[in-house]
Amino acid sequence: MARTITNTSTQAQHDWPDDVFIQGGERGIVFGGPDGAYQTAFVEAFPESTFLRGEGSTLAEAEDKCWKQYQRHVSCDGTGQGHGPYERRQYTNGAGFCTRCGTWMNRVLPPLADEENHSSDRKPSLLDRAFYAEPDALVEIFDALAHADELPHGSTDQ
Ligand SMILES: [Zn+2]
Repeated sequence: MARTITNTSTQAQHDWPDDVFIQGGERGIVFGGPDGAYQTAFVEAFPESTFLRGEGSTLAEAEDKCWKQYQRHVSCDGTGQGHGPYERRQYTNGAGFCTRCGTWMNRVLPPLADEENHSSDRKPSLLDRAFYAEPDALVEIFDALAHADELPHGSTDQ
């Protein structure tokens, strides 16, 4: 049975399981693109321990991309051994990426204890700061949201 993508009035085209929350937006804001923030349609899915996100010029395109990631995620997990091995990439807090399906997963690696020392000369991203609830980052996010109409559109007309 078709579900409505939360926060939109659009019905999902794909057969998402009931226990996987999905949400989306026609005009999401992405921070930290090469030219700063931009707008995009997006759909996000939240299976256990992770979240998947597709972006596109339309909600349908974004859902398609998110669905493909979900299929890859599920078939990887379906081997009976779970995901992994994992690689950290830029994460030092214990999150990592499954090297087989590419899914980002929370709490799959031991956090790097000396993160504090290494991170001092690296400017944390806006999203990092938001996750650690830095008030300034939240102000910056809400400011961008308030001026969303003025942001350039990503991926379509650059
Ligand atoms: Zn995997």
